[in-house]
Amino acid sequence: TEAYISAVDAAGDLNAYITKTPEKALEMAKASDERLAKGGAGNLEGIPLGVKDLYCTKGIGSHACSHILDGFAPEYESTVTQNLWDDGAVMLGKLNMDEFAMGSANETSYYGAVKNPWRANGEEIDRVPGGSSGGSAAAVAARICAGATASDTGGSIRQPAAFTGTVGIKPTYGRCSRWGMIAFASSLDQAGPITRTVRDAAIMLKSMASVDKKDTTSVDLPVPDYEAALTGDIKGMRVGIPKEYRVDNMPEEIEKLWQQGIDWLKAAGAEIVEISLPMTKYALPAYYIVAPAEASSNLARYDGVKYGLRVPGEDIVDMYEKTRAEGFGDEVKRRILIGTYVLSAGYYDAYYLRAQKIRTLIKQDFEKAFEGVDTILTPATPSAAFELNRKVTDPVENYLNDIFTVTVNMAGLPGISVPAGQSSNGLPLGLQLIGKAFDEETLFRTAGVLE
Ligand code: GLN
Repeated sequence: TEAYISAVDAAGDLNAYITKTPEKALEMAKASDERLAKGGAGNLEGIPLGVKDLYCTKGIGSHACSHILDGFAPEYESTVTQNLWDDGAVMLGKLNMDEFAMGSANETSYYGAVKNPWRANGEEIDRVPGGSSGGSAAAVAARICAGATASDTGGSIRQPAAFTGTVGIKPTYGRCSRWGMIAFASSLDQAGPITRTVRDAAIMLKSMASVDKKDTTSVDLPVPDYEAALTGDIKGMRVGIPKEYRVDNMPEEIEKLWQQGIDWLKAAGAEIVEISLPMTKYALPAYYIVAPAEASSNLARYDGVKYGLRVPGEDIVDMYEKTRAEGFGDEVKRRILIGTYVLSAGYYDAYYLRAQKIRTLIKQDFEKAFEGVDTILTPATPSAAFELNRKVTDPVENYLNDIFTVTVNMAGLPGISVPAGQSSNGLPLGLQLIGKAFDEETLFRTAGVLE
């Protein structure tokens, strides 16, 4: 823990941590030593972790990296982080993220952008770590935590993992409790870990997952020993390759990476099956209706009264308006505008209801595909990490980053991103495996072969 605390201090320029908790870390590490001395050890005894700022941590600032949550230190602990501490893990601090988890580059944080520890060969230019769990991914890649909690609404665990050469798994919706996670889009949000290796992810997810009476969408199923799934044996496994993911203008290096993954799995004895997921092209537009709709509703609670920031006004309505005008950043406001529009009378049927119907069709696509295959292999992202502060005039350009990841959230399925190669200029690239609901074990087993 001491070594990690100094490493965190030395890597300040990455801007991965927005709150450091060294005293708490040392106190937790001491308690862990005492438990070890008594012979009672948890699954994660003494392991120093970083926590995405989206998780409520008791008495410690929890802001989802938004100005509107300034000074908010909850009186409760999220179920996922509590599970980690109960298993002996140690908290190093809170990690930077896109504001309310909206973004794919960690550039919308009120606390400033995070730098990817990786740079392209021979370049001095900083790259983005991906988002929204950019702080988590950068911190794991830079070895300034042994693992980190993250969250994934439309790719926010898997895309930053791919951009930083780390492993990230979004488990099945319902596998982890969402209680105490600051909500973005409740029907899509799911907790998961970002770690250095597949084995670490298996160990950490086992601790994070649980059924919880405080989250009725968490599912009462036994949590398997994921580490035991890492047998390396995938002989006879059927791996689907969805033809709709061969998108136009896919860079050659991404094509190559995908082919490399196919070849590796074949060599290990898997059978490769061409499959079709015809609704894929509607996933991104439908996601950008469902996610903002739920976000606009979830963010209605930030009114200057209950949490964080309050900007005084002439009367209560003026106070609400001033607080929300100052407290939310541009991307969050854009989502609230889209969300309230698609939910408004007269547009609800045309947008929201249709998006929900598409969601059902996407789910059915996967159900059909999984009748013939055990897992699905795709690239995790359409490119390697892009340059920090690049000029983007059209927000849709950013949204395209999620093209391979959002379908998984729309269908509630598990997905893992595993480092599998590099771009022509030496940046990490990731492959994604998609699994059947609650079959994270197949993902771990297969990812272990690709790693
Ligand atoms: N990039 C996507 C968005 O901005 C996904 C974010 C996430 O998974 N939290 O909505």
